[in-house]
Parts: sequence; C-alpha cells; structure tokens
Amino acid sequence: MEMSGLQIFKYLPAAKKEEHSNCKECGCPTCMAFALKLAKQNIEIKECPYIKDELKELYSHSVKHAQETVLIGDLKIGGENVLYRHEKTFINRTVLAVALDCSSHNFESELKKISEFEIKGVKENLKVDLIILKNLKDINDTKILNRVQNDKSVSIITLEEFNKLEIDIIIDENFKVTKDYLITSRTKAIIEKDETYSKPVCVLMKKGNIYETCAKASYYICKYANMLVFEDFDEAMFSTILRLRENIYTDPQKPLQVESGLYEFNSPDKNSIVFLTTNFALTYFAVANELDGANVPSYLVVIPADGMSVLTAWSAEKFTADIVSRTLNRLDIRDKISTRKIIIPGLLAHMIDELKDEIPDFDFVVGTNEASDIKEFIKTKC
Ligand code: SF4
Repeated sequence: MEMSGLQIFKYLPAAKKEEHSNCKECGCPTCMAFALKLAKQNIEIKECPYIKDELKELYSHSVKHAQETVLIGDLKIGGENVLYRHEKTFINRTVLAVALDCSSHNFESELKKISEFEIKGVKENLKVDLIILKNLKDINDTKILNRVQNDKSVSIITLEEFNKLEIDIIIDENFKVTKDYLITSRTKAIIEKDETYSKPVCVLMKKGNIYETCAKASYYICKYANMLVFEDFDEAMFSTILRLRENIYTDPQKPLQVESGLYEFNSPDKNSIVFLTTNFALTYFAVANELDGANVPSYLVVIPADGMSVLTAWSAEKFTADIVSRTLNRLDIRDKISTRKIIIPGLLAHMIDELKDEIPDFDFVVGTNEASDIKEFIKTKC
C-alpha cells in the first residue's frame, strides 16, 4: 500500500523532535510539507539527507508498482495501485473486447455491428475497446481484409498477438473460482507487492445465458478484471457494462461534470425558451432528459460550477449573478438568442433580485425544484 503523508511524517526528524527538525534543506518549509509532497511523489526521497533506512525501505516498497501496465496499441491495461477506488482512484479501465471468428459466415456483419456500436457517455462516447480476430488466415476476400486492417473505429488485434501479451489469462469456468482468483491476485499484487501476481488479469468469458454473463461481467469489472473477452457481442449487455465501467473508473476526487455551454433541444430557434443550470453531470442529464422529452424547442445554459449541484454551487459561491453574467457574455447568448427570459432552478429562487440587478436586460423566472416537474412547467407556464 502507498504511504500517506502522516505515515511518512512519523519517521521524520520533526515528528521525533530530533536534530534538523524543519531544517528546510529539502526545499520544503517543514518536515510535514516534505512528507505530504513525498506521499504524492512530487519530491525525491533523497532530497532529505536525514531520512533513516527504515523509512527508505518502507517507502521504496510502498511506491513499487503493484501491477504492471501493458499496452495494446493505444489501450492500456493494469497499472493499478489501490484495492478500493475511494483510496485514490483506479487508473486503467477494464478493457472490454470481443473475439470474432473470421471463418464465421456472419463475420462481416458482426464486425460492422461492433465497430459501429456507440453510446453516449458523460465525457466521451462509449465503444467496444478491442476486437480479437481468430482465424484471420481464413479471410479470402481482400476487400474485407483491407477493411479490417484499416478500420480505425475500434482497436483490432489477431489472436496470435493477443496470446503474446504479457497478461495473466484465465477462463471463466466457474463464477466462484474466477471471483476468488481475481480478488486474491489483486490483493497479493497491491498489499504484498507479490511479483507473481503483477501481471494484469484477463478473463475469457464463455458463451452462455446473456443475463448470467452480464451479471458476472459486472462483478468482474468491479473486482478486479483488467480485461474481459467475450465470444459474443450483445448490444444490451455492452451498454450495461460500459455504463457500469464508467462509474467505477471515475476519479472519486473529481466530480463528474459536463462542459459549460449552450445546449440545444428539439431544434430551437431564436425565440425558444431558455433554462439555466450547473455543470454537475447528474443535474445536467436530469434537466437535459426532461427538456429533450418535452418535445418543445429549448436551450439550456450550463454554468461552470466545478461540477457542483445547484445548491452546493451557490453556497460555494460558484453560482453567483456575476458568474451567470460572465457565462452569458462568453457564450454570446444575446447574439444567438432573441429571448430575454431565462428560467432558473427553483432552488435558487432567492437569487432572483441579485440576477435582475446584475443582468438587467434579462427577465429571470423561477422554475421547478425537481427536474421531473419541468415538462409540466413548460406546459403550464411557458
Ligand atoms: Fe525535515 Fe528533512 Fe526537510 Fe529537514 S530536510 S525539513 S529534516 S524533511
């Protein structure tokens, strides 16, 4: 396990009230500052000349890479350093791959289906990461072969290339056996830094009942497969596990947020209604879904609020009249839209006077507290 700043500090002169306490020779103002920097690996341990061998040994063990990182073209797997996401973050998303048999009669249609599959994600669109081609030599059609080799929409490797990867490959014969192996190998790699388990682990999922496969794959993504290879491609299952994976592999220290900007729903024109909210992803998607489903042309102005929800942003002074005013200017709202009425979240009703003072050429109207009431609000008030 990586050492925290406090754990490091305990071994430094200041904690032991020894000579050289807070001497600043390392360039840090105090031993504590050095410890905090060292924990984040922002300074070299050798910068402090007074570190004892015990700490040197503990520290070098703690920063030793628990799991190797393996590259598959642009994809990275492994390189994880923690057992639980909240300790820091998981680094490289579980690669989700499909093994395709080139000798199969429906090879071309499956290839097309997989490479064109895409679902909308918060920051990027989600796709199958990798196709592994079995029996590539059986492709006689040069047109298909060229397409396979030039297809840039998804990473493709041959089975031979896959077998050469420096990864630990296991076959999912039995859920309990696979689950126990994944947990044991990750625990040994992270806690014990046992090099026997330092390779990323790939699970080959066998064909079977789709619900069972989806349930097992979901578990393996959470604990602790670095890669899953499926023999079949199923859109519903991939949509489910890709979404799950996005949630597991977000950085818990960074709130999920969308870009601040002007979003359009149902082909609005210059006179369409305008709503306002923050860039917290959950808030944005709740409001966006309602506006989309209302079948009324509308705009949504999204304020940059460091990914905070409406009330949190207001209390942290990330949603002020000044920020709203600057956002409207930055987005050239006055040129793009003739409407001079903006519907604000109901939770910010207390800001109405402040907004009117700061932005006198707009009329601000208090909307709903809940996104789910937006459709009714549009019907009755707009
Ligand atoms: Fe503390 Fe070592 Fe830095 Fe001196 S050089 S302040 S003893 S960490």
